[in-house]
Amino acid sequence: MRSIMERLGRGGVMLADGAWGTLLHEMGLRPGECPELWNIERRDKVAKIAEKYVLAGAEIIGTNSFGASSVKLGMYGLDTMAEEINIEAARISKEAAGTERFVFGSMGPTGKILMMGDISSEELFKSFVEQAKALQSGGADVLLIETMTASDEALLALNAAKENTSLPVAVCFTFDKTANNEYRTIMGVSPVEFCHNMVSAGADIIGTNCGNGMQGIIEICREIRNYNKEIPLMAQANAGMPEYRDGKSIFPEGPEEMASKIDALIETGVNIIGGCCGTGPAHIKLFAERISNFMQR
Ligand SMILES: [Zn+2]
Repeated sequence: MRSIMERLGRGGVMLADGAWGTLLHEMGLRPGECPELWNIERRDKVAKIAEKYVLAGAEIIGTNSFGASSVKLGMYGLDTMAEEINIEAARISKEAAGTERFVFGSMGPTGKILMMGDISSEELFKSFVEQAKALQSGGADVLLIETMTASDEALLALNAAKENTSLPVAVCFTFDKTANNEYRTIMGVSPVEFCHNMVSAGADIIGTNCGNGMQGIIEICREIRNYNKEIPLMAQANAGMPEYRDGKSIFPEGPEEMASKIDALIETGVNIIGGCCGTGPAHIKLFAERISNFMQR
């Protein structure tokens, strides 16, 4: 079996995929509908997204399982389907990815805040254990804990994944710029604190996703790399902050604009580049060109 750590060790920059949620909405997912149920009920549509990213040149393909922890699925009354939904999510992406690419099984936040007493850590942990195991049995090569803002929830997810699967684990946090021009998650975690906590707890890859466009992601990656030169780093910027017009999210950063900053992003020392909300196959295709041009310099 090919290993992501071995592949990363060969150097260069790996290309990941772009948004899934954005594409699901384009394909007809309605507001308030459970995106992950589509793995069962609209399998062909979900497969189409994975296929589009393969065609765009991505070497890393995510899964439609961001909100598929039983805790999050419980919001739709679908908590008992968590195992089935995650297995199917990984299978769909694996079929499209084949043996030449890597499937990163997505695990997002549950929406419950431990600090507020919304949920017990045991319950949260159990939910992540189930999700991590199901993603592995469906064929995921790596577990990707992403869009996290709270260290306690991320650590539970990381421990759940490390202790109950044999897969490498990536952890990505989402930062915003504060009034003091510093990057913090909404829970107050800095990029350095995040890096320290996750690397100490055994994360194999760390990174940052979503946020507020390419420029912010570049600055965050610089901060992380200043602190830790070794840990594999991934960056998946969103296409800027969406504006809501006529019930639709319009993202300001188009493929050209984002791709024009790829060189600067590579120069921070990232190892994996993809996109988050508002990015699509057109973004990823241009990123592929830019990365390949950069490598030939
Ligand atoms: Zn996002």
